[in-house]
Amino acid sequence: MIYLDHQATTPLAPEARSAMERWLGGADSASFGNPHSPHRLGRQADAAVELARERVAALFPSGGQVIFTGSATEALNLALRGAGPVRAGRRVAISAIEHAAIEETARSLPNRLTVLPVDAAGLLDAEAEWPAEVGLVSVMQVNNEIGTIQPVERVYQRAQAAGALFVCDAVQAAGKLPIAGADMIAISAHKFYGPKGIGALWVRNGVALQPLITGGGQEGGFRSGTLSPALCAGMGAAAELALTRMEADAAHMDRLFARAMDLFAGWTLNGSADQRHKGNLNLCRAGLDVARLMSDVRQVCFSAGSACASDSGKPSRVLAAIGLSAAEAKGSIRLGVGRYTTEAELADAAALLNAAAEAQG
Ligand code: PLP
Repeated sequence: MIYLDHQATTPLAPEARSAMERWLGGADSASFGNPHSPHRLGRQADAAVELARERVAALFPSGGQVIFTGSATEALNLALRGAGPVRAGRRVAISAIEHAAIEETARSLPNRLTVLPVDAAGLLDAEAEWPAEVGLVSVMQVNNEIGTIQPVERVYQRAQAAGALFVCDAVQAAGKLPIAGADMIAISAHKFYGPKGIGALWVRNGVALQPLITGGGQEGGFRSGTLSPALCAGMGAAAELALTRMEADAAHMDRLFARAMDLFAGWTLNGSADQRHKGNLNLCRAGLDVARLMSDVRQVCFSAGSACASDSGKPSRVLAAIGLSAAEAKGSIRLGVGRYTTEAELADAAALLNAAAEAQG
């Protein structure tokens, strides 16, 4: 099996796995404490959580705090809903290519919504006009379907000038590029070789936020519920590793991307070739039946459009936003390479995919 779906999830790094093992907490171990208990076992578990928090915090700009959550979806809900009441009456603006965690949440808020368009390359125009009464802006750093890198530094400057909060979904950027400044930033461990079931919201000091989940007051009162020291430790180790390897991983992505451009010469790349995370290859071939391709090439794990949208059978919002016709969007696949993908795997996958696509005529 060749795994080419790293935007959907990544394998657990061995370093993250070994950091987690100690905290899985069997009855014969001394590491099953509740990190919120004041006794010795609790304090040991708490120390592991706080070490993990420091490691995760190193991914972010300075001047804020990390709140652990169960996923990036939860973190983004906390950001939008938690700031919502504060921003009542003012407009929310999001880009046209946000993940469903932002899009659906923004639509469910009582605030009026403005959707900021992207161009044919999948890039937001950072200088485009915004409505005057914008109170919260949310733009992702790297798009999950087409990999394009958005001008989030400029969006943040403009949000500050407009007195609006800026929320950034950095799920596909974290561990791959330096995370840009914002008021609130969401990430997810399983997208950077950490475990599933844990994400984080970084909140700049001074930003007023109300909790979504109330109870025992954990995470500074912003997110009640007992934390899993194992998941925190795994996320912390994955963050530390990603920072150490950021340049080496990026160089590996560059090499794989250059090779892929030769291997998939008969396909068109969706989204900007330069302003993109090179681990993402969203490729289109006119007239292709992607469902048939997937069933013909079962040895390769890849995605049609976004992993989330492909289950729903709905055409991709992102591919429509960059101007692809329904047929072009339907003939597009997403290949996501990662840290452990080899050039040989990519070449084997290309041979299988090209042969199956050509056999469709
Ligand atoms: N935002 C982006 C850009 C994503 O790619 C994803 C996951 O696909 C999410 C948010 C949601 O992350 P999680 O799986 O942690 O809820």
